[in-house]
Amino acid sequence: MTESRYRLPRHVVPHRYDLTIEPDLENAVFAGRVEISVTVEESTDEIVLNAIDLELDEITLTNENDDILTAAVTYEEDTERARLALSRSATSGDWTLTIAFKGILNDKLRGFYRSTFTDQEGKLRTIATTQFEATDARRAFPCWDEPEFKAVFGVTLVVDSDLLAVSNAGEVDRQDTGDGKVAVRFADTMKMSTYLVAFVVGALEATDPVYVDGIPLRIIHAPGKAHLTGFALEAGAYFLRWLASYYNIPYPGDKMDFIAKPDFAFGAMENVGAVTYRENAVLVDPHVARQTELERVSSVIAHELAHMWFGDLVTMKWWNGIWLNEAFATFMEMMASDSFRPDWKTWLEFAPLRGYALDTDALASTRPVEFDVDAPDEADQMFDSLTYQKGSALLRMLQQFLGEETFRQGVGDYLRAHAYGNTETHDLWVALEKASGQPVGAIMNSWIFQGGFPEVEISHSPEGDGLLIEQRRFGYLPEVSGGEWHVPIVVRLSDGQMEETSTAIVGVTPEEIRANGPIEWAVANAGGNGFYRVRYTPELMDGLVERLDQLDPHERYTLLDDTWAQVKAGRVDSGTYLDLASRYRDETEAAVWGLLSGSLSRLHRIVQPDAKPAFESWVRTLIEPAAERLGWEPAPGEDDLTRKLRGTLLQTLGTTGRQGHARERARRIVDELLESPESVDPDVAVAAVYVTASAGTEADYRRFFERYEHAVDPQEEGRFMYALPQFPDTDLARETFKMTLDGRIRISNGPMVVGRLLGNEFNGAQAWELIKENWNAIIELFPPMILKRAVETIWTRHDQADDVRAFLTTHQVPHSEKAVAQALERLEVAQGLAQRESNRLTGYLQRE
Ligand SMILES: [Zn+2]
Repeated sequence: MTESRYRLPRHVVPHRYDLTIEPDLENAVFAGRVEISVTVEESTDEIVLNAIDLELDEITLTNENDDILTAAVTYEEDTERARLALSRSATSGDWTLTIAFKGILNDKLRGFYRSTFTDQEGKLRTIATTQFEATDARRAFPCWDEPEFKAVFGVTLVVDSDLLAVSNAGEVDRQDTGDGKVAVRFADTMKMSTYLVAFVVGALEATDPVYVDGIPLRIIHAPGKAHLTGFALEAGAYFLRWLASYYNIPYPGDKMDFIAKPDFAFGAMENVGAVTYRENAVLVDPHVARQTELERVSSVIAHELAHMWFGDLVTMKWWNGIWLNEAFATFMEMMASDSFRPDWKTWLEFAPLRGYALDTDALASTRPVEFDVDAPDEADQMFDSLTYQKGSALLRMLQQFLGEETFRQGVGDYLRAHAYGNTETHDLWVALEKASGQPVGAIMNSWIFQGGFPEVEISHSPEGDGLLIEQRRFGYLPEVSGGEWHVPIVVRLSDGQMEETSTAIVGVTPEEIRANGPIEWAVANAGGNGFYRVRYTPELMDGLVERLDQLDPHERYTLLDDTWAQVKAGRVDSGTYLDLASRYRDETEAAVWGLLSGSLSRLHRIVQPDAKPAFESWVRTLIEPAAERLGWEPAPGEDDLTRKLRGTLLQTLGTTGRQGHARERARRIVDELLESPESVDPDVAVAAVYVTASAGTEADYRRFFERYEHAVDPQEEGRFMYALPQFPDTDLARETFKMTLDGRIRISNGPMVVGRLLGNEFNGAQAWELIKENWNAIIELFPPMILKRAVETIWTRHDQADDVRAFLTTHQVPHSEKAVAQALERLEVAQGLAQRESNRLTGYLQRE
């Protein structure tokens, strides 16, 4: 690769930062001083490092011989650098670079920023906190802000003595500075990248530590929330121990704090020893949380802790490697959660996330999982479903192909070989090849360096006693074509007497799998771990539909999901899909019902108005037996996923099914819930909230808003907040939209609420008009990383497709070129689906 203007020169290399920072919360500024131990590799009269929105001063370069050089600084805004012109040439050897600096505590949720919350006495409190990934450490202190420049950090925070101060390592010293402040010094960190440095200062509280094999684990939170920390402490302790054992490497830090932040652009961030979270990703009351909310807390914690080794101890060389960092942590989050709560069927619950990645990857505007990154902000576009969900699904497919123990061994070897260092994707494949003896690099490169994925077509071989398997690229639109994959296939087949499982790597030429006799039925993605779609001949498809009870839940899921994808691609009609769906009447898995519910709701939107009642009746016929089996109240000793399933069924019945009884009952449950939240099962409660909102009145809206504003925990806040955009009334929708811009809904949630308004059956069109009217304010207010979440839902406006297309062609969304292109293509897919199926559905319902 040619030298990039975004990469710092390597003639001066840092080893250690002694960093003192004093934030002034009141005036939203900070001042600091950093001593950086560097090696000058070749004599130079210039040092180049990263700094942006910082004022540097009193710059000196000194060495053991008492040489003292000064420097004049020039700033390069576009590359976010400072150039230090030395007073004379520095000889090669070890030096200390000292810089005083000043900056602003911004409100853009990045770098060193300010965030506020209202405490128990109703007083507005300010905290100062950091978020550095990918390249915002340079906003907090001058540094070599690239992942490869690993160094040790000795941090000191000078803060008001009544505030809590936290950084990556444990506190080792505390000195009164005589002016009501204390200088809190933290132990040296391990050698690590700048993007993992963190500090948090504010009127926060910490739980007592729980010791996990000698490592103290605490939760740091706003006052009054200690009762919401128990679950995170339990899960955190479990995962820390489990991960150390999985990797067979002790946790590399000296303590672990989980910090719940009121304002955060991300879900969480894996700073070494100081993991930051959105409040709803760590604080939870398990007695009033519904299943998905608990699952989320558990999986986010597992994800961040998995990074302590994969990402923090061993780090990508450059931002092109961010995908592996995130894909691996997502994969490990599943592995760890599955061990923590086997009854939560983590891998089955992952199926919809894999499905979402397949959905994106079926677009012409998809991208390879790994691509060259020159400017670091190009890496911002990597934080999407292709990195997290496709990446982790690929690792799962590989793990299942290599064997779980072989895979674990290879990963551990890789981490031990590169501890405290940096790697490229290839290094992991090398370790896994060594552990397995398989051509891991060749297999994975075909999945990582080209966008898209194959559809595997399976048919009886001409001779009869075998199966023919071929691949071609899967896409929704005809222009999607090209590509070849090394597809690890797992086929389960039966000749009517015996069942057997075969594996093969399907390449360019069709692969034949032989059996002993004529094949009666076959599943071509046995276990459901493959990142591909399967297309059966009608004969093989019929064989499976007759034997749904012989498929495992993953296989039932993928059969339905693959068929639904073919409907969106226009190769199967919606009537055929509904016929298949009706075979799932006796289904018992929450994940499968979730898929049914989502697809039915989507079809409901495109049914012609006069056929809607017939469709709703069809939906009720499908769901009612399952809903009646479960009833409205959990049975004693019932498992968590059954509770989740009940919520899904009741919500679908009350919304898409328009069942009057469900709506009345939901309304009564909401009354009970607002009286005493603990009296109602959480999953039923949430279903009732959404059902009520979907047909709610203004009085309901006011009650929900009141509950949102005075929520007792982050989950309750989220439920009532996300219920607001579901109301059918146009004026209320307008009001909800306004709230996302005027602060009544936090910036970090606003785009998600706007996204739901866009998807609102009655008010989506208005939401789109409001977006256009307020475009400048929206772009100004929301950080691009979150704004993307609203863009992703634009496909729901397929009835305004031309207008949406025209507008987004002339109005840029910063850092979101890919996300916008994908959103517009999804819009085209949605438009095609509506045009094809609207009449067909009416015909189907008339025949039924
Ligand atoms: Zn992550």
